[in-house]
Amino acid sequence: MKQRINILGGGPAGASAALAALREGARVGVIEKSRLPRHKVCGEFFSPEIGPELERLGAWDAFLAARPARVQRLELHFGSRKKSSRLPEPAFGLSRYAFDLMLLDQARAGGADLASETADERPLIVATGRHATATQRGQRLFGFKAHFDGPVDDGVELFFFERCYVGVSAVEAGRTNICGLAPESFLSRFGFEYDDIVMQCPALSDRLKPLRRVTSWFSTGPLQYGQAFEDAGHAYPAGDALSFVDPFTGSGLLAAVRSGAMAGRAAAVGQPVSEYLRECRASLRQPFQVAGVLRRALEGGWAEKLAPFAPGRLLFALTRPR
Ligand SMILES: Cc1cc2nc3c(=O)[nH]c(=O)nc-3n(C[C@H](O)[C@H](O)[C@H](O)COP(=O)(O)OP(=O)(O)OC[C@H]3O[C@@H](n4cnc5c(N)ncnc54)[C@H](O)[C@@H]3O)c2cc1C
Repeated sequence: MKQRINILGGGPAGASAALAALREGARVGVIEKSRLPRHKVCGEFFSPEIGPELERLGAWDAFLAARPARVQRLELHFGSRKKSSRLPEPAFGLSRYAFDLMLLDQARAGGADLASETADERPLIVATGRHATATQRGQRLFGFKAHFDGPVDDGVELFFFERCYVGVSAVEAGRTNICGLAPESFLSRFGFEYDDIVMQCPALSDRLKPLRRVTSWFSTGPLQYGQAFEDAGHAYPAGDALSFVDPFTGSGLLAAVRSGAMAGRAAAVGQPVSEYLRECRASLRQPFQVAGVLRRALEGGWAEKLAPFAPGRLLFALTRPR
């Protein structure tokens, strides 16, 4: 009888783990507490390397069938300064509403059992997303997002202002996703009214003029970045449960799919957890280090001054997992 692998969490990391374990011939059970599809706060930007990752899992055709937007350019706005560059390869924009359901459906079609409650057995793979944090009130960071209709662009644009940033990029069906991250102290000044908050950056306010919001605002938090590459015993942590990188790198989903797939394979072939974690560390460390430096630049207020010298393409390359 083949080993059964129980996975807690059916987001991108959990579903990728399921697909990888199924490909190794394992029996798989996924426990997902939410009913999919559902909106999730996310920039919904997929870096180009997602293609080979999904192809290895047999999910690339389904991803393309969801008609993701193609993203060709990166535009960084620091106050009044703007920095544009062409991405080395096209990236993608697809809503989490579509992506998470697509990936979990692939796992289900491949033979994974899906349940909404924890079975008695302990999970072998933990893919439950970010850990809750106990940061001081006011200092905490929150994410927010909404979808808009209107003219569609082929760039991913990031607007940095007042220790906040907001990303603008297209997703499927001619929609544009607006997703931001800001400290609680700033959000509370505007009563958490996101329509007002996005107007506080003049360049962003101009960018949003031709767009019309078509969903409510969704928010999430508090957020805390961190890597938990410690050996947690018998279970393989994957995705944000393993490490949560600053979202402006746009590599969280790639890291979730990659580490999920690595966890699924490792669990199916019986690779020791410590060895799996060592491989994850080697693959995911770089974006953390670079994101840490950039965040200090933003918080110290020198990002605007450094912007003219920052090579956009290099920055993009440095914030990808290896
Ligand atoms: C504001 C913001 C913007 C972002 N923008 C981007 C971006 O543009 N590009 C990018 O690549 N990344 C982005 N990210 C990061 C990306 O969202 C995450 O890296 C990704 O969601 C991680 O996937 P995951 O499967 O590990 O976790 P999740 O997507 O959080 O999935 C975890 C799943 O586990 C389920 N679950 C949790 N606990 C239990 C339980 N006890 N029992 C059963 N089920 C459970 C949850 O319901 C959920 O479905 C962003 C993140 C934030 C906060």
